Amino acid sequence: MTISTKANADFDEIGKFTRLADEWWNKNGAFKSLHDINPLRLNWIDDTLKSHFGSSLAHKKVADIGCGGGILSCAMAVRGADVLGVDLGEENLKAGEIHAQRVGIDNVSFACVAVEELAKEQAGSFDVVTCMEMLEHVPDPQAIVRACFELLKPNGICVLSTINRNPKSYLFAIVGAEYVLGLVDKGTHDFHKFITPAELDRMAIESGFERFDMTGLHYNPITKHYWLSNANVDVNYMMAFKKADNT
Ligand code: SAH
Repeated sequence: MTISTKANADFDEIGKFTRLADEWWNKNGAFKSLHDINPLRLNWIDDTLKSHFGSSLAHKKVADIGCGGGILSCAMAVRGADVLGVDLGEENLKAGEIHAQRVGIDNVSFACVAVEELAKEQAGSFDVVTCMEMLEHVPDPQAIVRACFELLKPNGICVLSTINRNPKSYLFAIVGAEYVLGLVDKGTHDFHKFITPAELDRMAIESGFERFDMTGLHYNPITKHYWLSNANVDVNYMMAFKKADNT
């Protein structure tokens, strides 16, 4: 792998995922929670595209940044998008490739490249850029958001998800999810890297975006049920952005 030593990446963080690469497609394994929320986020992205473009994921050119084993990349491809999944963990990409091959998805491909590099090579070429559950694992999330902006066509849509930073998110996303319920591996998240909606908005605006939509992801540990609601964005949340009119 030839990744620039200046890559905006924390390889200890990436190692947390590559160590578990065999688990990506075990729906009851280490990434169960990503599998469980996948239909919700997939539908939200599709609905967002319908209200922006008037058409769904089908035939859209999509870059999925920090794609891991391709849980979302493959699902978007199944909806008819032409998807490029990008990650810096080669083992993750391999898991995605093997899965896509096994189930016969041929409109998804994977590349081990830093998003800032990809943005130089393929600026302005994607209808949609997604970057889910990754910004809280990188040293400079602002630079990632800016690269997502550069990858998009003028009329494109970017969807970002991350975890808010407040006492409730500490309790739910770290104490609850990692230690009490075991929804994700212990040590997956570092509270100090969580990003508030105001911070994400600021990063996006400074990159040239304006917010299009936002929603919160909620979980009931008793019923083990996930749902999306705009009622609050206290813990996990997604934001959709379009390029601001003046860019
Ligand atoms: N987006 C996927 C996976 C989230 S897990 C999903 O939501 O299903 C976070 C992923 O981000 C891991 O696969 C990790 O390897 C990747 N990652 C972390 N830092 C990265 C960086 N700087 N560039 C690209 N990928 C990165």
